[in-house]
Amino acid sequence: QALERDEFELFYQAQVGSAGRPQVMEALLRWRSPTRGLVSPAVFIPVLEDTGMILEASRWVFRQACRQALAWSAQGFDWRIAVNLSPLDFRQPDLADTLIGILAEEGTPAALLELELTESALLEADDLVQDTLRRLKDTGLPLFLDDFGTGYASLTYLQQFRFDGIKIDRQFVAELPENPRSVALVRGILTMAAQLGLEVVAEGVENERQAAFLRLNGCQRLQGFYFARPQPAADCTQQTQRA
Ligand code: C2E
Ligand code: MG
Ligand code: MG
Repeated sequence: QALERDEFELFYQAQVGSAGRPQVMEALLRWRSPTRGLVSPAVFIPVLEDTGMILEASRWVFRQACRQALAWSAQGFDWRIAVNLSPLDFRQPDLADTLIGILAEEGTPAALLELELTESALLEADDLVQDTLRRLKDTGLPLFLDDFGTGYASLTYLQQFRFDGIKIDRQFVAELPENPRSVALVRGILTMAAQLGLEVVAEGVENERQAAFLRLNGCQRLQGFYFARPQPAADCTQQTQRA
């Protein structure tokens, strides 16, 4: 019903580069319920997945992201938009065709977008998934592995697929730099990523100390409440981002 009644909205959260300026905006889905107010995706995404309606939601999100990317580009903001996809999306044989079709319909260059997928999308990684990822990549859509390190067999996937980058899960960032285990893990992930030529985004950066540690250790892209909260598109262009 939320889809029919047009109650979904996209919020955007910045990923900043080394100069502190936004490079990528991650599209994060929100449900503005007439009775419950603004509902978190943690609550309703599982429902969309159980009912299979996530497929329709993903197409809606991707299309909105295409339009927003063009709008920002026309306003002089060279921000890419990152779109999250569900594991269920990757079980559809026509995922690549669908996304390529939407890009064409909206007239959006693939370079204005990127895709985030979690390791669970790759659990049943067969030829179909391989083929889908290859086609998306050939289209020019950068692929990022989200929540890196919390799934099942990340290194296998890095061996098998040509990802453009990884997003370090915020559970590793949370205790930087006090926790020596977090320090060791994050340094290890950054070294490995550098060797593989992968871009790294750290998510969940909430304070100056975490940001300083990550930058000192070579993490290029940072995302978290310290820099910007997820917010409506109009607010992104107004807010001056912190360096
Ligand atoms: P995610 O893709 O890992 O997104 C990051 C989540 O961390 C977002 O929660 C964001 O608000 C939150 N976050 C960002 N910075 C900080 C921080 O500094 N501290 C803390 N504590 N949290 C931070 P959100 O928006 O509630 O989204 C939760 C998850 O829902 C996302 O995790 C993603 O897996 C899923 N999701 C959101 N939008 C979509 C969508 O359009 N499609 C699909 N398939 N999944 C989506
Ligand atoms: Mg994400
Ligand atoms: Mg994540």
